[in-house]
Amino acid sequence: MNRLKSIGRISIAVACLLFFTVVASAQSQNSLYQVSTINALLQGVYDGQVTMKELKKSGDFGIGTFEGLDGEMIALDGKFYQVKSTGEVILVNDQMKTPFANVMNFKPEQTGEINDVKTFGELEKALDSIIKDKNYIYAIRIDGVFTGQTRSIPGKTKPYPSLTDAAKTQSVFDIQQTKGTIVGFLCPQYVNGINVPGYHLHFISEDRKSGGHILNGGIKSGKVQIARITDFRMVLPSNDAFQQASLNQDYSKELSKVEQSK
Ligand SMILES: [Zn+2]
Repeated sequence: MNRLKSIGRISIAVACLLFFTVVASAQSQNSLYQVSTINALLQGVYDGQVTMKELKKSGDFGIGTFEGLDGEMIALDGKFYQVKSTGEVILVNDQMKTPFANVMNFKPEQTGEINDVKTFGELEKALDSIIKDKNYIYAIRIDGVFTGQTRSIPGKTKPYPSLTDAAKTQSVFDIQQTKGTIVGFLCPQYVNGINVPGYHLHFISEDRKSGGHILNGGIKSGKVQIARITDFRMVLPSNDAFQQASLNQDYSKELSKVEQSK
């Protein structure tokens, strides 16, 4: 009888241990939360779907845009910024909404350094040499001195134009030797239609006075932190624009036109 009791206790102890191990490993995962799809954004689905208040619950780090495609979003160390098309950078308010964003609680697993990288192509190569297994999505943070061009698109009103047409009105900012942080993601080709295959990077200056979506540029000296993502949650809009958008085509050419100017 006593023996049975002690076996029972041991089983409960093992079960508890297993439970805590599973919980602990789930918490250490880098989980990505995404609002909508890149094809929806390319097709002009710019209605805000998730408030900043909600988005902040899913992460302290990430990128995106705002309702009406109004500027570029950068989330860094738990603060969410909007780089407006005027160049002004502001802290967002909780009521603002996003039609497309990627956020996560950033837990870096790998670090590296990059030096004297002048173009986006060189930056890609430098990051490629650090990130080996390309079958995952990666979150990337680079703290360093940036020189290059960023952009922000002025907000649009309905009927919304496609992203290709909206990008024709973008403001381009020339940023020289500016200390700050690059925030973004590397996605495999297989995410085509859902997110941006390749590198999608935004920049914000240390003084929080400039930034935007990186069109081109490099880093003089930078500390790189990388997190591999093994868990991905996507929330799709329930609005008419999303339901009626033509999302099942290959828009990779349109996407590469608006992403960089290498
Ligand atoms: Zn962007």
